[in-house]
Amino acid sequence: MPARDLFRNERYTLPHNGKPFTLINVSRGCPYSCIFCIAPVYYGKRLRRHSLAYVLDEIERCQTLHGIDQFLFWEEIFTLDREFGVSLCEAILERSWKISWATTTRADRVDLEFLQLMRKAGCDLLGLGVESGEQTILDVAKKQEKVEEVVNAVALCKQAGVRTMGHFIFGLPGETEASINKTIEFGLGLGLDYLQCYAAVPYPKTELGLMAKRNGWLTSDRWMDFDFGGASVMDVGTIAPEEVSIARARMFRSFYLRPGYMLRQAKMLLSHPRQLAQASKFLNWMRSSKVSAS
Ligand code: SF4
Repeated sequence: MPARDLFRNERYTLPHNGKPFTLINVSRGCPYSCIFCIAPVYYGKRLRRHSLAYVLDEIERCQTLHGIDQFLFWEEIFTLDREFGVSLCEAILERSWKISWATTTRADRVDLEFLQLMRKAGCDLLGLGVESGEQTILDVAKKQEKVEEVVNAVALCKQAGVRTMGHFIFGLPGETEASINKTIEFGLGLGLDYLQCYAAVPYPKTELGLMAKRNGWLTSDRWMDFDFGGASVMDVGTIAPEEVSIARARMFRSFYLRPGYMLRQAKMLLSHPRQLAQASKFLNWMRSSKVSAS
């Protein structure tokens, strides 16, 4: 059990509501083979998870000992072991815990019934690895997913009342100006609540890392440059690394600066003064970080 008493838990708050928040590690490992992903390399391909009793105990301790009721269930694919996920949600409901949590999954591993149960149990944000709107890029990346499955997953989340965060990667092998345009158009049309974009990073021991080495795609060998939130360190030959940074900035701007989106966010912030203060801190952080610089 993590020694949370060593932390000043009140310092770790969510940017949108200012409430203390923490991570609960539920499982590790992913059986998929996406070429860019460090998770199977880092955690292995076999799913290993804590017992239901352990996870429940940790959630309860966070609430009673540390006053934390906002969580991120930290695992690669929350819905991979559906039976476990259902048991966890049912146990939360049985205890009548008023908690709120976010987690991540794959678009092809969701169904309406499970999403509705997750929502009832407090899930209000689900991260989905979309990566690209171009099927050929998903195929080269060995994502084993169809773009239609992403469209379906976002629609199901909406129906269940679970907000969505889409994760996108630019600069994967085969990326071109046309595929970037397609991905941006796809991402904007999905109806996501939030999105995050990254540069593809050829991490050592991933298949992408091996491809980059073999094909001479690396533009830097400085480990500190291998940052998915920074400039691209890979030239895959079909798109310049600088274009990857421009694409990220374009997608961020096109999504977050849409008048309708800004109006909705402004209304939400004005109705919650605490959120307004937090949002201003968040914007300052964005301004000073690589997110806005790239
Ligand atoms: S991107 Fe997701 S599905 Fe693919 S290997 Fe990584 S954790 Fe697994």
